[in-house]
Amino acid sequence: MKVLGPEALARPLEAGTVIVGSGAGGAVVAAELAEAGEDVLVLEEGDHHPPEALAAMSPAESLRRVWRDGGTALAVGLGDTPHIAVQLGRAVGGSSILTGGVCFRIPEAVLAEWRERHGLADYTPEGLEPFYRSVEEAIHVEEVPEAARSRSTALFAEGARALGYALKPIRRNTLGCEGRGLCNFGCPHQAKRSVDLTYLPRAVAAGARIVSGARVDRVELRHGRARGVVGRTAAGRRFRVRAGRVVVAAGAWHTPLLLRRSGIGRRSGQVGRNMTLHPAFRVSGLFEERVDGWKGALQSAFADAFEDEGITLVSFFVPPSVLVSTIPGAGPRFVEEARRAGHLAVFGGILHDEGGGRVRRGPGREPLVTYRMARRDRAAVPRLLRLLAETWFAAGARRVYLPVAGLDPVDADAFARLDLESVPARKLECTSQHPLGTARMGADPESAVVDPDGRSWEVPNLYVADGSVLPTSLGVNPQLAIMTVAARIAWRMVGKA
Ligand SMILES: Cc1cc2nc3c(=O)[nH]c(=O)nc-3n(C[C@H](O)[C@H](O)[C@H](O)COP(=O)(O)OP(=O)(O)OC[C@H]3O[C@@H](n4cnc5c(N)ncnc54)[C@H](O)[C@@H]3O)c2cc1C
Ligand code: SF4
Repeated sequence: MKVLGPEALARPLEAGTVIVGSGAGGAVVAAELAEAGEDVLVLEEGDHHPPEALAAMSPAESLRRVWRDGGTALAVGLGDTPHIAVQLGRAVGGSSILTGGVCFRIPEAVLAEWRERHGLADYTPEGLEPFYRSVEEAIHVEEVPEAARSRSTALFAEGARALGYALKPIRRNTLGCEGRGLCNFGCPHQAKRSVDLTYLPRAVAAGARIVSGARVDRVELRHGRARGVVGRTAAGRRFRVRAGRVVVAAGAWHTPLLLRRSGIGRRSGQVGRNMTLHPAFRVSGLFEERVDGWKGALQSAFADAFEDEGITLVSFFVPPSVLVSTIPGAGPRFVEEARRAGHLAVFGGILHDEGGGRVRRGPGREPLVTYRMARRDRAAVPRLLRLLAETWFAAGARRVYLPVAGLDPVDADAFARLDLESVPARKLECTSQHPLGTARMGADPESAVVDPDGRSWEVPNLYVADGSVLPTSLGVNPQLAIMTVAARIAWRMVGKA
């Protein structure tokens, strides 16, 4: 796939549609518009890493070069809320390159809420079916067979069975996955069908241009319409692109910054608000047997048995080097613990959160993001940790490692004595890979930033097509939802739906 470098912007460019961001949302729109015969230009802040370059990177190099800020973005917890480490991609292909490949359709209860509370009348399972089908075919969504599960996941399944709940197979966008557990650093085998291998090559084949190393700072407006964008290359050189239509797809972390800087979204006052994160926690279990959990599909099973409590349990694993870096302690004790890494099994859980995140302009280039956990979500944290730990003990774990700063691994007796409700929020180690909702869509221009077709309520030739338009969290991983909504937005733009 041919990707242009920032030098392509030395002269002002023109395009029918300029798309800001080449991740899950932007890539889908680029391919759909280009294949409909439109003149498309994609501007991406990050670099282009072709598949062979990604395959040659160590996890540490990938963190430095593909992850935004080396994986250190932060949502600052307000009140009784943990600080949340947020991971994002910054590359041609966006965060899509870094996913574990997990694909979920939008749960019906979530769609019902979108219809009832946000006026998204056409967002029904039947209404979305053509878009799901088109995306699922394009990125090859398939069920992970039980045989591909890692020993870590198989052990968790045993524990779940003993406690009376079941794991279900996950679907992933893979083709020929050999189960190497490196998905979050870019699949070395091109087995994960991320957008850099699917939608973006399709867009380029249909005539779209993609420029890497191009950060857009502002949408230029004239007489209430967008007429293009301005920005800077990584080397600091300013550029300008004129376009008949602008699609903002910079992800829920950055899209609101760009809209705000451009003076868009004042009417609803909702730009940058309503951010949900799916706060995530993981608990490891230490087993007598060797687990080597990195062998097998990185993510292969989930449990929705606790959906009513806003909790989804999801399997995952990380390469050994990353796993060792999460082990507590220092000096000889650390060495001793690290030697046991092959005996650790890991499982995670996410909260179907209500959203208390807010994106504001920060002192530098990156936004200042705060997050206040809803009372219900905060109360679910000890329950989530207990579920994970008890499942490990039911599977035969000797000890569990809880995501609580400064807490040593505990055996079943010590765990039973722990008062998890009293652990201060600041001690909880919480992560997120799923920011959503900061430019939400809806039928009411007074409470939504874009309409149900992704079109700005204020600027008729400006669209948003990324995670920021999803009006609520999903309780499940969002990439398929984002791509499906982006496909719908694109089809409506070109009159295909
Ligand atoms: C480690 C990790 C694992 C994940 N695993 C899963 C999973 O298994 N399943 C799942 O469903 N989801 C997963 N996700 C989440 C999923 O990747 C995201 O929800 C999805 O990619 C978001 O799509 P998006 O289009 O909103 O943003 P992104 O895909 O993040 O794309 C936004 C792009 O815009 C670019 N950009 C930002 N600002 C500008 C600017 N001003 N100018 C130009 N370009 C800009 C960014 O560099 C980025 O490339 C994971 C995410 C991460 C980080
Ligand atoms: S488990 Fe390995 S082969 Fe499969 S998609 Fe992930 S990195 Fe690629």
